[in-house]
Parts: sequence; C-alpha cells; structure tokens
Amino acid sequence: MRFDLSRFKSGTDRIDRTYEPGAFGSATADTDDFRVPDPVHLMLDVKKNGDRVHMTGRVVAALDVPCSRCIEHYRIPIDAHVDLTFYPATDPLATAKPARTSPKSDEEDGDEVKEDDLGVSFYSDDFIDLEQIMREQFYLALPMKPLCTPDCKGLCPVCGINRNQGTCSCESTWVDPRFDALRSLRK
Ligand SMILES: [Zn+2]
Ligand SMILES: [Zn+2]
Repeated sequence: MRFDLSRFKSGTDRIDRTYEPGAFGSATADTDDFRVPDPVHLMLDVKKNGDRVHMTGRVVAALDVPCSRCIEHYRIPIDAHVDLTFYPATDPLATAKPARTSPKSDEEDGDEVKEDDLGVSFYSDDFIDLEQIMREQFYLALPMKPLCTPDCKGLCPVCGINRNQGTCSCESTWVDPRFDALRSLRK
C-alpha cells in the first residue's frame, strides 16, 4: 500500500486501487474501534512538483463499528474527500517554510500551504504510505458515540437484554438505589 515516488519524477499520475478488507486486518485486530468489512477503493490524482506531492481524491469504504448503546455491530459508509500535500520528512524547509518552489506552480495547484495546515503530511524514503491516508479517513469517519440507529434503545442495565430486540420486565421493578435513602428519610 505504498506509492513509489522514485518511479515518478514529476508531473501527474492517477491512483485507482481497490484493497481487500484483509489488507487492513492485521493492524486492526488489536483494536475494537472498527473492522473493515468491504473492499476499500482509493482514487487519487497525484501531482508532483519538485519534492512536493499533492494528492486529491476519494476514499470509498465501509466500517463495521459496535454501537455504543447496544454493542451490536453496524456499518458506516465512508466516501471521504482527501486533499493532502506531502513534503519529504528530511527537508528542513518542510516544517519551517513549506512554501513555493516557483510562483507559477502555485498558481497551477491553487495551494496555499500553512505550517499548521491539517492537509500537510510528510514522506520518507521516496514512499508515500497509502494505508496511512486511508486509515486517517477511517478514524475521521468514526463517530464520537457510535449509534446503530439514532433511537437505539440500548441494553437493559439489569438483565442485559438488547431492548431493540426484546423486552423485559426490569424497567418497572428496577428503582434507582439512590432513592432508597430519600424514602427512608421520609418515613
Ligand atoms: Zn444500538
Ligand atoms: Zn431487563
């Protein structure tokens, strides 16, 4: 999942690749954040200008995520826009002044790169890590509080039944223990 810059001196190129879910398997096995159930489609237009590489395009994928209420897995579709500018990691200019190599090229790209630009990244050894690009989009797509449906009823805190799938009688009998203290005060 790498893009070899050594075979791409300058100009433009196009990446159009599909990765099988297994390609992301080993690295996600140690996390419960998400799984990748479907092939991932990466489409990028690549522009190389000196050491600077500009990539724009899309990541189309799906994530399999556990609901934060009922812990059932559900699917999040991803169709993310990518707009990244890469600089060689060893270039001291990259962190200080990632500015124009020539005014003309900036007009072509329409880029205005700032130091704190989120769209700025770095590469080393003439390789751009495409997996990292996709992974970033996966994490950006993850909701803070994943919900299988907006009105997911969650699990019963007493018996653990999934309230989307069945009902139990716990709700009517379960009383917040904090109220016991109040009740005893009243007596
Ligand atoms: Zn749920
Ligand atoms: Zn219950």
